[in-house]
Amino acid sequence: MSCFICKKNNLFKFLSLGHQPPSDAFLSKEALEKEEIAYPLDLFFCKDCYLVQLGFVVDPKILFSEDYAYNSGTNQTLKQHFKDFTSKLISKYKLTEKDLVVDIGSNDGSLLENYISHNVKILGIDPSGVTRLAIKKNQSTIVDFFNEKTAIIATKKYGKAKIITATNVFAHVDDLHSFMNGVKELLADDGIFVSESGYTYDMIEGLQYDFIYHEHLRYYTLKPLVTLFELFGMEIIDAERIPIHGGSIRVHAAMRGKYPISSAVEKLLELEKGSGLYDEKIYINFAKEVEKTKLNLQQILVDIKIAGHKIVGIGAPAKGNTLLNYCQIDSQIISYLVETSERKIGQFTPGMHIPVVEESHLFKDQPGYALLLSWTIAPILIKKLKEKGYGGKFIVPAPKPTIL
Ligand SMILES: [Zn+2]
Repeated sequence: MSCFICKKNNLFKFLSLGHQPPSDAFLSKEALEKEEIAYPLDLFFCKDCYLVQLGFVVDPKILFSEDYAYNSGTNQTLKQHFKDFTSKLISKYKLTEKDLVVDIGSNDGSLLENYISHNVKILGIDPSGVTRLAIKKNQSTIVDFFNEKTAIIATKKYGKAKIITATNVFAHVDDLHSFMNGVKELLADDGIFVSESGYTYDMIEGLQYDFIYHEHLRYYTLKPLVTLFELFGMEIIDAERIPIHGGSIRVHAAMRGKYPISSAVEKLLELEKGSGLYDEKIYINFAKEVEKTKLNLQQILVDIKIAGHKIVGIGAPAKGNTLLNYCQIDSQIISYLVETSERKIGQFTPGMHIPVVEESHLFKDQPGYALLLSWTIAPILIKKLKEKGYGGKFIVPAPKPTIL
Protein backbone atom coordinates (compact mmCIF):
# COMPACT_ATOMS: atom_id res chain seq x y z
CA MET A 1 0.00 0.00 0.00
CA SER A 2 1.25 3.48 -0.82
CA CYS A 3 0.20 7.08 -0.21
CA PHE A 4 -2.55 8.37 -2.53
CA ILE A 5 -0.69 11.65 -3.06
CA CYS A 6 3.09 11.18 -2.92
CA LYS A 7 2.97 7.43 -3.76
CA LYS A 8 5.62 6.63 -1.14
CA ASN A 9 5.27 3.75 1.35
CA ASN A 10 6.12 5.61 4.52
CA LEU A 11 2.68 5.03 6.08
CA PHE A 12 2.00 4.67 9.78
CA LYS A 13 -1.18 2.95 11.03
CA PHE A 14 -2.62 4.74 14.05
CA LEU A 15 -6.27 3.70 14.33
CA SER A 16 -8.34 0.59 13.65
CA LEU A 17 -12.13 0.72 13.67
CA GLY A 18 -12.34 -2.99 12.92
CA HIS A 19 -13.94 -4.66 9.90
CA GLN A 20 -17.14 -2.90 8.84
CA PRO A 21 -19.66 -3.23 6.01
CA PRO A 22 -20.03 -0.11 3.77
CA SER A 23 -21.78 2.52 5.87
CA ASP A 24 -24.53 3.24 3.36
CA ALA A 25 -25.33 -0.43 2.61
CA PHE A 26 -28.70 -0.56 4.42
CA LEU A 27 -30.34 -3.99 4.27
CA SER A 28 -33.83 -5.22 3.47
CA LYS A 29 -35.48 -7.75 5.79
CA GLU A 30 -34.71 -10.56 3.32
CA ALA A 31 -31.04 -9.53 3.09
CA LEU A 32 -30.63 -10.07 6.85
CA GLU A 33 -30.64 -13.82 6.18
CA LYS A 34 -27.78 -13.58 3.68
CA GLU A 35 -24.05 -13.10 4.17
CA GLU A 36 -22.80 -9.58 4.74
CA ILE A 37 -19.31 -8.54 3.69
CA ALA A 38 -17.15 -6.35 5.94
CA TYR A 39 -13.88 -4.60 5.07
CA PRO A 40 -11.02 -3.27 7.24
CA LEU A 41 -11.47 0.33 8.38
CA ASP A 42 -7.98 1.44 9.43
CA LEU A 43 -6.39 4.88 9.31
CA PHE A 44 -2.82 5.68 8.26
CA PHE A 45 -0.63 8.79 8.35
CA CYS A 46 1.92 9.47 5.59
CA LYS A 47 5.16 10.61 7.19
CA ASP A 48 6.30 12.15 3.89
CA CYS A 49 3.40 14.38 2.80
CA TYR A 50 1.25 14.27 6.01
CA LEU A 51 -1.84 12.84 4.34
CA VAL A 52 -4.23 10.77 6.47
CA GLN A 53 -5.86 7.93 4.53
CA LEU A 54 -7.52 4.52 4.68
CA GLY A 55 -5.42 1.45 4.11
CA PHE A 56 -8.08 -0.53 2.27
CA VAL A 57 -10.05 0.59 -0.77
CA VAL A 58 -13.49 -0.96 -1.26
CA ASP A 59 -14.37 -1.36 -4.96
CA PRO A 60 -16.10 1.94 -5.88
CA LYS A 61 -18.66 -0.06 -7.88
CA ILE A 62 -19.85 -1.51 -4.56
CA LEU A 63 -19.95 1.88 -2.79
CA PHE A 64 -21.49 4.10 -5.47
CA SER A 65 -23.81 1.71 -7.24
CA GLU A 66 -27.29 2.00 -8.71
CA ASP A 67 -28.88 1.93 -5.25
CA TYR A 68 -26.54 4.41 -3.60
CA ALA A 69 -28.81 5.85 -0.91
CA TYR A 70 -27.30 9.29 -0.39
CA ASN A 71 -29.44 12.05 -1.87
CA SER A 72 -28.28 15.67 -1.38
CA GLY A 73 -31.68 17.21 -2.05
CA THR A 74 -33.18 15.69 1.10
CA ASN A 75 -30.78 17.62 3.33
CA GLN A 76 -31.97 21.22 3.91
CA THR A 77 -28.66 22.39 5.43
CA LEU A 78 -26.82 21.09 2.39
CA LYS A 79 -29.30 22.74 -0.02
CA GLN A 80 -28.71 26.11 1.61
CA HIS A 81 -24.96 25.48 1.59
CA PHE A 82 -24.99 24.84 -2.17
CA LYS A 83 -27.00 28.00 -2.73
CA ASP A 84 -24.52 30.16 -0.80
CA PHE A 85 -21.52 28.43 -2.35
CA THR A 86 -22.66 28.85 -5.96
CA SER A 87 -23.63 32.49 -5.52
CA LYS A 88 -20.16 33.11 -4.08
CA LEU A 89 -18.57 31.49 -7.13
CA ILE A 90 -20.78 33.45 -9.54
CA SER A 91 -19.74 36.79 -8.03
CA LYS A 92 -16.08 35.94 -7.25
CA TYR A 93 -15.34 34.64 -10.75
CA LYS A 94 -17.91 36.82 -12.59
CA LEU A 95 -19.57 33.89 -14.34
CA THR A 96 -21.67 34.61 -17.43
CA GLU A 97 -23.81 32.63 -19.86
CA LYS A 98 -20.64 31.88 -21.89
CA ASP A 99 -19.12 29.90 -19.03
CA LEU A 100 -19.42 26.18 -18.40
CA VAL A 101 -19.55 24.97 -14.81
CA VAL A 102 -18.98 21.27 -14.10
CA ASP A 103 -19.91 19.56 -10.85
CA ILE A 104 -18.19 16.26 -10.13
CA GLY A 105 -20.28 13.98 -7.91
CA SER A 106 -23.31 15.97 -8.99
CA ASN A 107 -25.71 13.54 -7.28
CA ASP A 108 -29.33 14.71 -7.75
CA GLY A 109 -28.28 18.07 -9.23
CA SER A 110 -28.95 20.09 -6.06
CA LEU A 111 -25.79 22.17 -6.49
CA LEU A 112 -26.06 22.77 -10.24
CA GLU A 113 -29.70 23.88 -10.16
CA ASN A 114 -28.60 27.10 -8.44
CA TYR A 115 -26.88 28.23 -11.65
CA ILE A 116 -29.93 27.89 -13.86
CA SER A 117 -31.43 31.32 -13.08
CA HIS A 118 -28.01 32.86 -13.93
CA ASN A 119 -27.93 31.17 -17.37
CA VAL A 120 -24.52 29.64 -16.73
CA LYS A 121 -24.00 26.42 -18.70
CA ILE A 122 -23.95 23.34 -16.45
CA LEU A 123 -22.76 19.74 -16.58
CA GLY A 124 -22.93 17.07 -13.89
CA ILE A 125 -20.70 13.98 -13.75
CA ASP A 126 -21.59 11.19 -11.32
CA PRO A 127 -21.77 7.37 -11.54
CA SER A 128 -24.64 6.79 -9.10
CA GLY A 129 -28.30 6.00 -9.76
CA VAL A 130 -29.41 9.20 -7.98
CA THR A 131 -28.42 11.12 -11.16
CA ARG A 132 -31.77 10.14 -12.66
CA LEU A 133 -33.31 12.90 -10.53
CA ALA A 134 -30.99 15.46 -12.21
CA ILE A 135 -31.67 14.07 -15.68
CA LYS A 136 -35.40 14.34 -14.99
CA LYS A 137 -34.82 18.07 -14.37
CA ASN A 138 -33.12 18.28 -17.81
CA GLN A 139 -29.64 18.84 -16.40
CA SER A 140 -26.83 17.69 -18.72
CA THR A 141 -25.31 14.71 -16.93
CA ILE A 142 -22.64 12.14 -17.69
CA VAL A 143 -23.40 9.03 -15.63
CA ASP A 144 -19.89 7.75 -14.98
CA PHE A 145 -16.91 8.03 -12.64
CA PHE A 146 -14.81 11.14 -13.26
CA ASN A 147 -11.31 10.42 -14.56
CA GLU A 148 -9.07 11.30 -17.51
CA LYS A 149 -11.24 9.33 -19.93
CA THR A 150 -14.53 10.94 -18.85
CA ALA A 151 -12.87 14.37 -18.95
CA ILE A 152 -11.88 13.88 -22.60
CA ILE A 153 -15.45 12.86 -23.48
CA ALA A 154 -16.87 15.85 -21.56
CA THR A 155 -14.46 18.34 -23.18
CA LYS A 156 -15.30 17.08 -26.70
CA LYS A 157 -19.02 17.41 -26.14
CA TYR A 158 -19.32 20.46 -23.86
CA GLY A 159 -16.00 22.38 -24.18
CA LYS A 160 -13.66 23.55 -21.42
CA ALA A 161 -14.91 24.48 -17.97
CA LYS A 162 -14.43 27.82 -16.23
CA ILE A 163 -15.26 26.23 -12.89
CA ILE A 164 -15.09 22.61 -11.76
CA THR A 165 -16.51 21.86 -8.32
CA ALA A 166 -16.11 18.69 -6.27
CA THR A 167 -17.95 18.99 -2.97
CA ASN A 168 -17.59 16.15 -0.50
CA VAL A 169 -16.27 13.88 -3.25
CA PHE A 170 -12.56 14.73 -3.62
CA ALA A 171 -11.77 12.40 -0.73
CA HIS A 172 -13.79 9.55 -2.28
CA VAL A 173 -11.93 8.99 -5.55
CA ASP A 174 -9.66 5.97 -5.59
CA ASP A 175 -7.48 6.84 -8.65
CA LEU A 176 -6.59 10.35 -7.53
CA HIS A 177 -3.90 10.90 -10.16
CA SER A 178 -6.26 10.04 -13.03
CA PHE A 179 -8.85 12.35 -11.45
CA MET A 180 -6.30 15.20 -11.38
CA ASN A 181 -5.33 14.59 -15.01
CA GLY A 182 -9.04 14.78 -15.80
CA VAL A 183 -9.35 18.13 -14.02
CA LYS A 184 -6.42 19.50 -16.04
CA GLU A 185 -7.95 18.20 -19.26
CA LEU A 186 -11.38 19.68 -18.68
CA LEU A 187 -10.39 22.97 -17.05
CA ALA A 188 -10.02 26.12 -19.20
CA ASP A 189 -6.62 27.83 -19.12
CA ASP A 190 -7.95 30.42 -16.66
CA GLY A 191 -10.32 27.93 -14.99
CA ILE A 192 -10.69 27.25 -11.29
CA PHE A 193 -11.10 23.93 -9.53
CA VAL A 194 -12.85 24.17 -6.17
CA SER A 195 -13.03 21.25 -3.79
CA GLU A 196 -14.65 20.81 -0.39
CA SER A 197 -13.64 17.95 1.87
CA GLY A 198 -13.86 17.04 5.53
CA TYR A 199 -11.08 18.84 7.39
CA THR A 200 -8.78 16.67 9.51
CA TYR A 201 -8.19 19.54 11.94
CA ASP A 202 -11.90 19.49 12.88
CA MET A 203 -12.02 15.70 12.97
CA ILE A 204 -9.13 15.56 15.45
CA GLU A 205 -10.26 18.55 17.54
CA GLY A 206 -13.85 17.35 17.82
CA LEU A 207 -13.06 13.63 18.09
CA GLN A 208 -15.29 13.04 15.07
CA TYR A 209 -14.09 9.50 14.46
CA ASP A 210 -17.45 8.59 12.95
CA PHE A 211 -16.48 10.72 9.95
CA ILE A 212 -14.27 7.77 9.03
CA TYR A 213 -15.92 5.34 6.64
CA HIS A 214 -15.03 3.49 3.45
CA GLU A 215 -16.31 6.19 1.11
CA HIS A 216 -13.83 8.64 2.64
CA LEU A 217 -10.45 7.41 1.48
CA ARG A 218 -8.53 10.57 2.44
CA TYR A 219 -8.71 13.00 5.38
CA TYR A 220 -7.23 16.28 4.24
CA THR A 221 -5.26 19.03 5.78
CA LEU A 222 -4.09 21.86 3.51
CA LYS A 223 -0.44 20.80 3.36
CA PRO A 224 -0.84 17.51 1.43
CA LEU A 225 -3.27 19.26 -0.91
CA VAL A 226 -0.61 21.86 -1.73
CA THR A 227 1.74 18.96 -2.58
CA LEU A 228 -0.91 17.28 -4.72
CA PHE A 229 -1.67 20.32 -6.88
CA GLU A 230 2.05 21.05 -7.32
CA LEU A 231 2.49 17.58 -8.79
CA PHE A 232 0.05 18.55 -11.55
CA GLY A 233 1.40 22.02 -12.39
CA MET A 234 -1.37 23.68 -10.40
CA GLU A 235 -1.46 25.69 -7.19
CA ILE A 236 -3.89 26.50 -4.41
CA ILE A 237 -4.86 30.17 -4.67
CA ASP A 238 -7.32 30.31 -1.78
CA ALA A 239 -8.31 28.15 1.20
CA GLU A 240 -10.99 28.49 3.83
CA ARG A 241 -12.56 26.52 6.64
CA ILE A 242 -16.31 26.00 6.34
CA PRO A 243 -18.77 24.50 8.87
CA ILE A 244 -20.50 21.93 6.61
CA HIS A 245 -20.25 18.19 7.55
CA GLY A 246 -18.85 18.96 11.01
CA GLY A 247 -16.02 21.10 9.60
CA SER A 248 -14.61 21.09 6.07
CA ILE A 249 -11.84 22.70 4.05
CA ARG A 250 -12.56 24.48 0.76
CA VAL A 251 -9.66 25.08 -1.62
CA HIS A 252 -9.56 27.00 -4.90
CA ALA A 253 -6.86 25.83 -7.33
CA ALA A 254 -5.73 27.06 -10.74
CA MET A 255 -2.89 26.50 -13.21
CA ARG A 256 0.36 27.77 -11.71
CA GLY A 257 0.92 31.53 -12.02
CA LYS A 258 -2.57 32.39 -13.32
CA TYR A 259 -3.93 34.07 -10.19
CA PRO A 260 -2.47 35.75 -7.10
CA ILE A 261 -2.34 33.56 -3.99
CA SER A 262 -4.47 34.67 -1.04
CA SER A 263 -2.73 35.16 2.30
CA ALA A 264 -5.34 32.77 3.75
CA VAL A 265 -3.31 29.85 2.35
CA GLU A 266 -0.18 30.67 4.38
CA LYS A 267 -2.25 31.41 7.48
CA LEU A 268 -3.96 28.04 7.40
CA LEU A 269 -0.65 26.23 6.86
CA GLU A 270 0.71 27.98 9.94
CA LEU A 271 -2.33 26.97 11.98
CA GLU A 272 -1.85 23.33 10.96
CA LYS A 273 1.85 23.31 11.74
CA GLY A 274 1.28 25.00 15.10
CA SER A 275 -1.43 22.46 15.97
CA GLY A 276 0.92 19.51 15.39
CA LEU A 277 -0.91 18.11 12.38
CA TYR A 278 2.35 17.26 10.60
CA ASP A 279 3.48 15.06 13.47
CA GLU A 280 2.31 11.50 14.14
CA LYS A 281 1.93 12.18 17.90
CA ILE A 282 -1.39 13.98 17.45
CA TYR A 283 -2.81 10.97 15.61
CA ILE A 284 -1.63 8.47 18.23
CA ASN A 285 -3.32 10.59 20.87
CA PHE A 286 -6.50 10.83 18.76
CA ALA A 287 -6.67 7.02 18.60
CA LYS A 288 -6.36 6.77 22.39
CA GLU A 289 -9.18 9.26 22.87
CA VAL A 290 -11.36 7.40 20.37
CA GLU A 291 -10.88 4.15 22.29
CA LYS A 292 -11.74 5.88 25.55
CA THR A 293 -14.92 7.48 24.19
CA LYS A 294 -16.10 4.09 22.93
CA LEU A 295 -15.78 2.51 26.39
CA ASN A 296 -17.51 5.45 28.06
CA LEU A 297 -20.41 5.32 25.65
CA GLN A 298 -20.81 1.56 26.03
CA GLN A 299 -20.91 1.96 29.79
CA ILE A 300 -23.58 4.68 29.70
CA LEU A 301 -25.78 2.61 27.38
CA VAL A 302 -25.41 -0.62 29.32
CA ASP A 303 -26.23 1.13 32.62
CA ILE A 304 -29.42 2.58 31.12
CA LYS A 305 -30.48 -0.82 29.75
CA ILE A 306 -29.77 -2.61 33.02
CA ALA A 307 -31.96 -0.02 34.80
CA GLY A 308 -34.75 -1.18 32.49
CA HIS A 309 -35.11 1.79 30.12
CA LYS A 310 -35.59 1.87 26.37
CA ILE A 311 -33.07 3.57 24.06
CA VAL A 312 -33.66 4.51 20.42
CA GLY A 313 -31.46 6.30 17.89
CA ILE A 314 -32.11 9.58 16.09
CA GLY A 315 -31.26 9.50 12.38
CA ALA A 316 -29.53 6.86 10.28
CA PRO A 317 -26.66 8.80 8.69
CA ALA A 318 -23.74 6.90 7.12
CA LYS A 319 -21.47 8.07 9.91
CA GLY A 320 -23.90 6.66 12.47
CA ASN A 321 -23.02 3.21 11.21
CA THR A 322 -19.31 3.75 11.84
CA LEU A 323 -20.20 4.65 15.42
CA LEU A 324 -22.67 1.79 15.93
CA ASN A 325 -20.37 -0.83 14.39
CA TYR A 326 -17.21 0.36 16.11
CA CYS A 327 -18.90 0.59 19.53
CA GLN A 328 -20.80 -2.68 18.88
CA ILE A 329 -24.18 -1.14 19.66
CA ASP A 330 -26.80 -3.54 18.31
CA SER A 331 -30.59 -3.92 18.41
CA GLN A 332 -30.46 -5.33 21.96
CA ILE A 333 -29.34 -1.89 23.07
CA ILE A 334 -30.98 0.40 20.50
CA SER A 335 -34.56 -0.70 19.72
CA TYR A 336 -34.79 1.28 16.46
CA LEU A 337 -33.57 4.36 14.62
CA VAL A 338 -35.98 7.06 13.48
CA GLU A 339 -35.45 8.68 10.07
CA THR A 340 -37.14 11.01 7.60
CA SER A 341 -35.40 9.64 4.48
CA GLU A 342 -37.81 7.38 2.59
CA ARG A 343 -34.97 5.30 1.17
CA LYS A 344 -33.89 4.11 4.60
CA ILE A 345 -37.24 3.63 6.36
CA GLY A 346 -38.14 -0.09 6.52
CA GLN A 347 -34.48 -1.11 6.12
CA PHE A 348 -31.90 -2.32 8.66
CA THR A 349 -28.52 -0.77 9.44
CA PRO A 350 -25.44 -2.48 7.96
CA GLY A 351 -23.57 -4.55 10.53
CA MET A 352 -25.71 -4.01 13.63
CA HIS A 353 -29.06 -4.67 11.88
CA ILE A 354 -31.07 -2.08 13.82
CA PRO A 355 -34.46 -1.40 12.19
CA VAL A 356 -35.04 2.07 10.70
CA VAL A 357 -38.56 3.44 11.19
CA GLU A 358 -40.45 6.68 10.54
CA GLU A 359 -39.72 9.60 12.83
CA SER A 360 -43.32 9.70 14.08
CA HIS A 361 -42.64 6.51 16.12
CA LEU A 362 -40.51 8.55 18.51
CA PHE A 363 -43.40 10.81 19.53
CA LYS A 364 -45.91 7.96 19.90
CA ASP A 365 -43.54 5.62 21.72
CA GLN A 366 -41.79 8.21 23.95
CA PRO A 367 -38.75 6.02 24.84
CA GLY A 368 -36.75 7.16 27.87
CA TYR A 369 -33.55 7.86 25.93
CA ALA A 370 -32.62 8.94 22.42
CA LEU A 371 -29.07 8.54 21.10
CA LEU A 372 -28.13 11.31 18.65
CA LEU A 373 -26.21 9.88 15.69
CA SER A 374 -25.81 13.26 13.93
CA TRP A 375 -24.29 14.54 17.15
CA THR A 376 -22.28 17.41 15.63
CA ILE A 377 -25.61 19.24 15.23
CA ALA A 378 -26.93 18.08 18.62
CA PRO A 379 -28.31 21.49 19.82
CA ILE A 380 -30.37 21.93 16.63
CA LEU A 381 -31.74 18.37 16.83
CA ILE A 382 -32.61 18.56 20.53
CA LYS A 383 -34.51 21.81 20.06
CA LYS A 384 -36.41 20.43 17.06
CA LEU A 385 -37.36 17.12 18.71
CA LYS A 386 -38.49 18.81 21.93
CA GLU A 387 -40.67 21.19 19.94
CA LYS A 388 -42.19 18.24 18.10
CA GLY A 389 -43.12 16.63 21.43
CA TYR A 390 -40.39 14.20 22.48
CA GLY A 391 -40.14 14.25 26.30
CA GLY A 392 -37.26 11.83 27.04
CA LYS A 393 -33.54 12.33 27.60
CA PHE A 394 -30.85 12.71 24.94
CA ILE A 395 -27.51 10.91 24.72
CA VAL A 396 -24.73 12.73 22.88
CA PRO A 397 -22.19 9.96 21.99
CA ALA A 398 -19.00 12.05 21.49
CA PRO A 399 -16.55 13.64 22.12
CA LYS A 400 -17.43 13.00 25.78
CA PRO A 401 -20.54 10.80 25.96
CA THR A 402 -23.17 12.82 27.84
CA ILE A 403 -26.82 12.52 28.90
CA LEU A 404 -28.89 15.72 28.50
ZN1 LIG B 1 2.29 10.89 1.13
